[in-house]
Amino acid sequence: MIGIDLGTTNSLVAIFENGVPRILANELGEELTPSAVAIAEDGTVLVGRAAKDRLIIDPNAGVMMFKRDMGTAREYFFGGKSWNPVTCSALILQEMKRVAEMHLGNTIERAVITVPAYFHDQQRQATIEAANIAGLKVERIINEPTAAALAYGYRNPNEEKKILVFDLGGGTFDVTLLEIFEGVIEVKASAGESRLGGEDYTDTLCSFLEKKYQWQPAAEQRGAWRQRVEIVKRQLARQLSTRVLLHKEMVEVTRADLIESTKLLTSRIRPVLARCLQDSQTHVSELHDVLLVGGASRMQLVHELIFELLKCQPQQKIDPDRVVAMGACIQAALCASDDAVDDLVLTDVCPHTLGIEITKAYSQNNVEPGFFCPIIDRNTTIPVSRSKPFSTIHPEQDMIKVQVFQGEARLTKENQKIGEIVVRNLKSPSGKNQLSQIEVRFSYDMNGILEVDVTNIETGKVSSLVIEQRPGVLTKAQLREALDRMRPLKMHPRDLLPNRARLERANRLFAELIGPTREQLSYMIDQFENALRSQDSQLIKQQTAVLDTFLRDFFPLEREMEQTDGEND
Ligand code: AMP
Repeated sequence: MIGIDLGTTNSLVAIFENGVPRILANELGEELTPSAVAIAEDGTVLVGRAAKDRLIIDPNAGVMMFKRDMGTAREYFFGGKSWNPVTCSALILQEMKRVAEMHLGNTIERAVITVPAYFHDQQRQATIEAANIAGLKVERIINEPTAAALAYGYRNPNEEKKILVFDLGGGTFDVTLLEIFEGVIEVKASAGESRLGGEDYTDTLCSFLEKKYQWQPAAEQRGAWRQRVEIVKRQLARQLSTRVLLHKEMVEVTRADLIESTKLLTSRIRPVLARCLQDSQTHVSELHDVLLVGGASRMQLVHELIFELLKCQPQQKIDPDRVVAMGACIQAALCASDDAVDDLVLTDVCPHTLGIEITKAYSQNNVEPGFFCPIIDRNTTIPVSRSKPFSTIHPEQDMIKVQVFQGEARLTKENQKIGEIVVRNLKSPSGKNQLSQIEVRFSYDMNGILEVDVTNIETGKVSSLVIEQRPGVLTKAQLREALDRMRPLKMHPRDLLPNRARLERANRLFAELIGPTREQLSYMIDQFENALRSQDSQLIKQQTAVLDTFLRDFFPLEREMEQTDGEND
């Protein structure tokens, strides 16, 4: 069983081996595979690094950040076809499965997959569907911060501690408070913002610079420009100022610029932290450690904010990019009852309040719909099953539409609708002229998936449940269609993947260069392609070395960025 961190920007796969979590690298030797899908010029489906490079030169050739759209009916159009977030995620999961199989030499069929704590039911269901399409059975869906805490708790099982997991990834922000005591890891509360992440910081810094220098990149330059700003953002995590190529001049960007221009984003962090502390009834002084998760938590401004608000220096020993995948494979070991995790116990909570819409009847002619009636409060320990009784509002009423919502607002229009069940034949068979009673039971399992049962109290019958309106969750027919569509996709054989990625990177550089250097590169690409066609391994090796040296010299910043990011731990 493998553990997969299906991230907004990058995904990782890990296995638990001889009592140790191990992240597996892909053929390019990289542990972080970009969560990107694109179509190459020849129609091949590209996944990971090659797709990301392709998207920099042609942003319309594919998609990234589709995790943010999981559980919605969003469609993307590229390569002459329409795609949805589930199929794109399936391609990434399939790639993770393949990387693990390459390392282990056998077929992998089961996985633990992480999701943001704030993912709701549809987003979790969509993740499970993506895994099924990729040929993986999901043994457990686990919240990302909980996975991080598991990795932390596994390293320090005997310490009695309260820790806060601060998870700022590419697209989402989650905070979780946990207690660790003699190997028991207990999640006390989770809070989050589903649309706040490092990518928003990059976008905001782009807009700030464009405004300051009154310049807009042409459409075909946008990808490369954003990539340069992304590098700047990362550099500013380590240094106070840097320079970036804007149009034709190098301009200076300081850490103060980053802090100032993203103030509004940063201000959204504070209330989430406060709510998590309040829900878990924890005072700042009780915190022992703050664990950082997600690439964007590397920003210095995050460390400073944490110190200011929590009076605590964040823990820097565990690599924020890898800790979630490590936790996922420890959870896989727990599912498989591995001896090494015998003493570890994990409990989690549901991050949102779950309930149904009710109508308030002030008198027979004065009814007001649209109120939220909570059934399971947020931060209740899971698994949990709770029920509440309800009644019709009119004796002649034969049907009730039970609309399921999640959120914290009093009115349902401000919460998120997650499903709908229509219960019919309610009118009393005994013909009594009275209101019908029903019981609504919510059962929330360890994967964060909700089941709703509605019982007619008079007859004792559990009504046939018709769950309607589940945007983003595929119907059986759509699932079959997605599977059919994946089958004939032209994917490159495993041994060609690094070459494919190399070519995409070379193409991307080609688009950036001009003049003789561009001609030189063009010649090298031709030589490299000829070598591939010849299938002469000696020649391929030779041309690969030539091309790689050229690419490395032209992408020094990216190389530096990739090396330094993974250093801690
Ligand atoms: P994740 O979804 O956890 O892979 O987080 C990816 C996000 O982290 C992206 O938005 C990256 O730009 C951001 N990120 C990664 N490394 C750094 C860094 N050194 N400084 C600032 N942001 C970073």
